[in-house]
Amino acid sequence: MNIQEVLSSQKVFFQSQKTKNIKFRKIYLEKLKSLIIQNEELLYEAIDKDFGKSKFDTFTTEISLVLKDIDYYLKNLNTLSKPKKVTTNLANQLGKSRLYPEPLGCVLVIGAWNYPYQLSLSPIIAALAAGNCCILKPSEIAENTMKAMATIINENFPPEYLYVYEGGIDETTALLQLKFDSIFFTGSTKVGKIVYKAAAEHLTPVTLELGGKSPVIVTKDADLNVAAKRIVWGKFLNAGQTCVAPDYLLVEETVQEQFLEMLRNYIKEFQYSPGSEQYTRIINQRNFQRLIKLIDKEKIYYGGTWNEDQLYIEPTLLTQVDWQDDVMQEEIFGPILPVISFTSFPMALNSILELEKPLSAYLFTNNAEEKENFLQKLSFGGGCINDVIMHLSNDYLPFGGVGHSGIGNYHGKYGFETFSHQKAVLEKTTWGEPNIKYPPYSEKKLTW
Ligand code: NAD
Repeated sequence: MNIQEVLSSQKVFFQSQKTKNIKFRKIYLEKLKSLIIQNEELLYEAIDKDFGKSKFDTFTTEISLVLKDIDYYLKNLNTLSKPKKVTTNLANQLGKSRLYPEPLGCVLVIGAWNYPYQLSLSPIIAALAAGNCCILKPSEIAENTMKAMATIINENFPPEYLYVYEGGIDETTALLQLKFDSIFFTGSTKVGKIVYKAAAEHLTPVTLELGGKSPVIVTKDADLNVAAKRIVWGKFLNAGQTCVAPDYLLVEETVQEQFLEMLRNYIKEFQYSPGSEQYTRIINQRNFQRLIKLIDKEKIYYGGTWNEDQLYIEPTLLTQVDWQDDVMQEEIFGPILPVISFTSFPMALNSILELEKPLSAYLFTNNAEEKENFLQKLSFGGGCINDVIMHLSNDYLPFGGVGHSGIGNYHGKYGFETFSHQKAVLEKTTWGEPNIKYPPYSEKKLTW
């Protein structure tokens, strides 16, 4: 289908006002939910072909979150879409001020490959809930999941309302020439800049969900066992191909040895061995080659092996890492955890401040002062104290970056607001107005 024609048909459909009807939105959200449930096996097979991800992982980190999003909007749509009363100032008495949430229009969602379902479907669910029409361009790198979503959606939704456009860089470049009312992009900072520039041509608002180097800090006052367990889970989930995975670890020197041993024990306990169903593969050769180059043989504390045919890289811990090492220059996005020790907590925070603002930051400690300093000093999109990653599973927290890690946010009511304009309206009575604002002006009026 010609994508320009699809967009034109969506503009006409949007003007018909049908998507502004709450019942209409709910019918299609319900429909999407049923389609996902009916096609669950097809979705699992596609992602397994793309990068050997288990059913359990796909359900917990993707499908269940998408279904939860739909349920959230089905439950809260009436409240979210109601006009909200705000205070009216003295000069506008007697009047009433309200915010009217209205859909932006036709939205483009560009997805990433690492959680291909969640990162494509969650934004479109929020966009549809807010009353928009939508074109989704999933990542071509996870080709089978892209095709699965295109088949399920394009066979069941009218293209003038929701359409999945398959393609890679050329198709995305062509899409970015078109005039959308909002663009929601998930991916790298590099491509985020391309999207931002293209959107500026049409003054299209953007949401950029990007990445970066997310630190995790462990101090001597942490519950080390809990920290080790949670960090190993969060780092090696999806073989480290998670935007909010801890990218590198800063650990207080006095507990480093003990903590490294705990990390190693949990990696073994979680059975991330070659051929294991518990462990995802690297998405493609290009990323595999990029990652193995980051493993400095001299600095391996644990792991460091790989199998090219299976695109398997063993969970790897690197020690004695310097800030100048290659592994510390860019987001790793794979199962390699560089460990740097520190002797002073304020200096550890200062080192993080030297880098771009991360998407996430994590601190493990039971020391109130350290918690306070972490929150006061560091700027990051979102994060956790005494956990990793889980903040994004709470719909009541907005999810997004800051600075180089992104612009805007979504999840829960924040997703609805991202795809809405808050139309600000003052309604006045036609009586009871002081005459002071009208000419002719006089000294007396000024001193009133
Ligand atoms: P990517 O930037 O390479 O690709 C993302 C999308 O952009 C894809 O749909 C792709 O087709 C398109 N694209 C790629 N090159 C393009 C170009 N030159 N012009 C126009 N479009 C282009 O990112 P990726 O490899 O899919 O994902 C990895 C990155 O995404 C990591 O940096 C990760 O941290 C980040 N990420 C962020 C989040 C988040 O929620 N903040 C989630 C997942 C991934």
